[in-house]
Amino acid sequence: MYFTYERPDFDISDPKEIRRVIEEAYCNGRESARAGTVADYIPELKKASAEDFGLCVCAPDGTVIALGETEKRFSIQSISKVINLAASLKYLGFRETFSHVMMEPSGDPFNSILKLDAASELPFNPMINAGAIQVMGTLSNIMDFDDLLGFAKAFCMDDDIVLNEAVYRSESETGDRNRAIVYLLKSKGVLRGDAEKTLDLYFRMCSLNVSARTLANMGLLIANAGRNPFTGKHVLHPGYVRTIRSLMYTCGLYDESGEYGVLVGIPSKSGVGGGITASVSGRWGIGTYGPALDAKGNSAGGIAALQHMSHLLRLNVFD
Ligand code: GLN
Repeated sequence: MYFTYERPDFDISDPKEIRRVIEEAYCNGRESARAGTVADYIPELKKASAEDFGLCVCAPDGTVIALGETEKRFSIQSISKVINLAASLKYLGFRETFSHVMMEPSGDPFNSILKLDAASELPFNPMINAGAIQVMGTLSNIMDFDDLLGFAKAFCMDDDIVLNEAVYRSESETGDRNRAIVYLLKSKGVLRGDAEKTLDLYFRMCSLNVSARTLANMGLLIANAGRNPFTGKHVLHPGYVRTIRSLMYTCGLYDESGEYGVLVGIPSKSGVGGGITASVSGRWGIGTYGPALDAKGNSAGGIAALQHMSHLLRLNVFD
């Protein structure tokens, strides 16, 4: 990891300079992707090309900067946890949602089962598998897959999202750890829905096909306080969006969230399919695609590009 407090002096509001930095960030991301490896624990994910890299930045005025593989579709994986949480907040409310899942960073890998059994009754947060499965348990009582897909399309401002059947099958055939989590939740008496139905919906939402552009759009809706800037439609209440951004900041990159918070400092969510969505409040949605992952399961290229942009354009929420 490279870090310095020194920043070159240039006009960070000049569109030409902004474009230059985004192009540099893209090159940096593509270069850094070489350090990562493609996920293989879900067999279908192994098929991704480690060299692929895309960076997309979308602004509320319709400006889009798209570099590299920004239209290529891949599975959203854990970034769907943001959509599940958003749906839970919208349709069940804050109190109901957080009476079944906590808001604490776990400091453990995304699929860990340790703290769930040893340290608490409820999953630590909705951004790790146990928490997202728990959220889905409650949601499964009021929404089916079509409802969730419709919500995902509105939340990502992308009508072309479909289920990737091959990834879905691959996940359900091999997702024994997630199966263990749902049954552990059930055995503790905290799961609110049917175990198999919950798991099926969780797998389906992980298998939605998105692109870096989709993820930039999702980041943009969040940056725009839950309002679609192109149609004016309010998809989610600004208060719920604030809650989601807070959890993305503290928990969005699993056990790398702390370091990412210091080095990048933009509310973000990653997935093992290689995507990252990032939301710069009031300004931009950023989506990256780079399936070569670091040791914590986060896109190596995506993190490098976002760190580059954040550092030079002063995008850290504490800047
Ligand atoms: N579908 C994956 C799983 O449940 C999602 C994990 C991730 O993206 N980190 O294992």
